[in-house]
Amino acid sequence: AKEDGRNTHRFFQADMGTAVNDRRELITDLRSAVANNELELFFQPQYALDDFRISGFEALVRWNHPRRGMVPPGDFIPIAEDTGLILQVGEWVLNEACRIAAGWPEDLRVAVNLSPRQLRGHAFGPVLVKALSDSGLRADRLELEVTETVLLTDSEEVLEALHQAKSLGVKVSMDDFGTGYSSLSYLRRFPFDKIKIDQSFVRSMAYSEDSISIVKAVIELAKNLDMTTTAEGVETRELLDMLTEIGCTDAQGYYLGRPMPLERVEELICNSQSS
Ligand code: C2E
Ligand code: CA
Ligand code: CA
Ligand code: CA
Repeated sequence: AKEDGRNTHRFFQADMGTAVNDRRELITDLRSAVANNELELFFQPQYALDDFRISGFEALVRWNHPRRGMVPPGDFIPIAEDTGLILQVGEWVLNEACRIAAGWPEDLRVAVNLSPRQLRGHAFGPVLVKALSDSGLRADRLELEVTETVLLTDSEEVLEALHQAKSLGVKVSMDDFGTGYSSLSYLRRFPFDKIKIDQSFVRSMAYSEDSISIVKAVIELAKNLDMTTTAEGVETRELLDMLTEIGCTDAQGYYLGRPMPLERVEELICNSQSS
């Protein structure tokens, strides 16, 4: 069929219009989401590979939108970052994660994801101190996960905020290790407690000898720097065995448990305590 160029153009504009309205609508809705109690935390278990016990949970935010249903973080965290709403969302996540984890057995930790913007300026220190004191959570049971993009921007302020967290006793992890441009140089600039090996490396260990070598080297490097390692995206028994054999500290992934609502976490904790 003969395509009408102008028509195509018109359709394209119509689509763009929808996308823009959609985004505006999401921004408006997100503004009230925190106040309206529409955000929820899911938790994904992490297992220690020396004894296969749960070592903690990563808190992953979900938005239970009244009309759209569950909106995944990938669809609203970037918008929250662009608009600055990430400060409110992030503070809610931190408070909620600390409050919930304070009710868990003492040997379980909670990991919280931070966006770069939360660490800029000088607001983060007080927010962190308040989250710990309000919840009563022991500082070393909280882990802050940051990607290297966090260190890419305004590094002095950000480094200061991370050092303050560490001085309180909070743990700091480098998330998605290996996916950025200069992960290694960041390891020198900040004393992370933990390296989270990105899913892409972990998954490719199933078919690539080179990937196995890279993950082994990262684990070795981490040991020498006195850091622990968590492998992300473990989807098979085979990968779990491999990671255990090469000395990875912890693992997380669908094979071990998907992100789950709090009720399921409590069941899981109950069952693993009694076994
Ligand atoms: P992330 O921090 O790398 O979190 C891990 C993501 O991988 C989660 O997606 C999790 O559900 C998924 N995942 C875990 N195990 C597996 C697996 O075995 N296979 C596969 N295919 N995927 C797995 P989710 O929950 O959609 O979160 C996506 C991203 O959104 C997170 O990536 C994180 O960057 C961001 N995010 C989530 N919650 C927060 C938050 O509270 N604050 C901020 N700033 N970012 C958040
Ligand atoms: Ca993470
Ligand atoms: Ca990650
Ligand atoms: Ca990621």
